[in-house]
Amino acid sequence: MDGDGLRTTFAWEDARSAELHPLDGERINIFHEAVGHHVEEGRGQDLAIRWLGRDGSTRDLTFADLDDLAGRFAGVLRDLGVGRGDRVFTLLGRVPDLYVAALGALRNGSVFCPLFSAFGPEPVRSRVGPGKGRVLVTTAQLYERKVAPVRAELPDLEHVLLVGEGTAEGCIPLAPLMETATPAPTVPMDPEEMALLHFTSGTTGRPKGAVHVHAAVLAHRMTGRWVLDLHAGDVFWCTADPGWVTGTSYGIVAPLALGATLVVDEADFDGPRWLRILEEQRVAVWYTAPTAIRMLMKLTPDQLGEHDLSSVRHACSVGEPLAPDGVAFGETLLGTPFHDTWWQSETGAIMIANLPGAPVRPGSMGRPVPGVVAAVVERTEGGVRPIDTPDVEGELALRAGWPSMFRMYLDNPERYGKSFADGWYLSGDLARRDADGFFWFVGRADDVFKSAGHLIGPFEVESALVEHPDVAEAAVIGKPDPIAGSIVKAFLVLRPGVEGDAGVERSIRAHARKRLGPAVAPREITFVDHLPHTRSGKVMRRLLKARELGLPEGDTSTLENP
Ligand code: ATP
Ligand code: MG
Repeated sequence: MDGDGLRTTFAWEDARSAELHPLDGERINIFHEAVGHHVEEGRGQDLAIRWLGRDGSTRDLTFADLDDLAGRFAGVLRDLGVGRGDRVFTLLGRVPDLYVAALGALRNGSVFCPLFSAFGPEPVRSRVGPGKGRVLVTTAQLYERKVAPVRAELPDLEHVLLVGEGTAEGCIPLAPLMETATPAPTVPMDPEEMALLHFTSGTTGRPKGAVHVHAAVLAHRMTGRWVLDLHAGDVFWCTADPGWVTGTSYGIVAPLALGATLVVDEADFDGPRWLRILEEQRVAVWYTAPTAIRMLMKLTPDQLGEHDLSSVRHACSVGEPLAPDGVAFGETLLGTPFHDTWWQSETGAIMIANLPGAPVRPGSMGRPVPGVVAAVVERTEGGVRPIDTPDVEGELALRAGWPSMFRMYLDNPERYGKSFADGWYLSGDLARRDADGFFWFVGRADDVFKSAGHLIGPFEVESALVEHPDVAEAAVIGKPDPIAGSIVKAFLVLRPGVEGDAGVERSIRAHARKRLGPAVAPREITFVDHLPHTRSGKVMRRLLKARELGLPEGDTSTLENP
């Protein structure tokens, strides 16, 4: 298999000694990889973070600044009796304190777990509780609204540290502690010790807690270089929310480990502002998501304006399938196509990607990165069988054992066990591999459905629909039907200024039939103002389906606009 060929030319074990900076014997620490070793090697004055405040203010932090602040935060934790393996949660927007808390917790040997700042009390409770959060770093305002109502149900939560203005009962303002703390040393960790806890996006059901270890940093670092093309001094912008796994792996660890400068924008998506940031900060590498790309594609020429975006050398996308028109939009906007990348909370790092330097295959997720063996498999009785024939659909699986593979699902050993068979990790996504080894996303196993004997993946239908000039965004579900099993139903968001009248619908139907054939073209079309997205930007098809059928909506804690 072609993935095995790569395996023989790249071994994680060899990279470990060449790329990592052990603290003592075999022991490492993600903090040391991200910050500490740069300072030790004399690069303390390099810029680590350029923070852009919502109000137009900026703040620069060098690697030495981060070293000092993370050291103090680790000192605060140590003085509170919080140590190795203890869980430190954050409920913060994109503020400098978030980066300090993340890096300081890791430095201290504690486990970092970020939450979306937009979460309400219930999603906070259902993560901090099972996650055994001992410390939570947040603001007074967020605390009052989201934590105070459930604090009594969180017996493990001993310390709530508040950043910024204001106080709240039962909480400790962090700033005075930071001022008096002496920096604590970096704790050397066994590579298999827990470092990060990430909850999945909850697109297909209740979010799961994926546990990662310090050894994962090798995969962060290598994929940062191979896939994102990050080098020391590059200005890098990852637009992911800090509550999502991307916000840590590529919003903090990988770029800092490689000595890049992070651009951090406090504000939420705003097309014209984003274009200004790319231009003014001279961003070299940009990592964003299909939802944002689609929103930029919706801007009128007036809103797009004139920008010199020639600094952007490389652009990537993650989180959802990227249709060919999205790839091409990169060329138009930036002069470089968007390179799709695929991974999950469980994989901890990018596994499949359109690599820089190779031609992008639009619509494909790309090929496995070195050291990763991917296959399309079918489940057999008691195991799995790789499908070697190209272009056949099956479950996307990865040969277990890459450094950032999750080590458990929080409180769910049974589910963890079921995610592996015959040495493969089963991703729950369906894909096919073409003869050249490129992987094509078909859908999530939970979203794929059968209509009149055809197995249909929503993405295929959605990609064809968004090619229509009037369609901005599309989501497709299988709507149960007594005769066909399911019928194809599409929810469409139209471009601004387009009315969803009979003429537009006719034209979209004609386009879909031509592109997909009558069996796969949507039988039902509904125009909507927006689609339900998770906070990490994924379309929740299960919610559209539940609403369509009048069924309970299940866990909606990660919904963007509840
Ligand atoms: P849950 O597991 O709770 O349903 P989730 O799978 O959305 O949530 P994440 O781990 O944040 O949680 O997302 C990983 C998933 O996102 C992948 O399994 C895949 O379905 C989707 N995804 C990520 N990147 C891509 C991509 N490039 N193309 C298509 N799908 C992608
Ligand atoms: Mg998932």
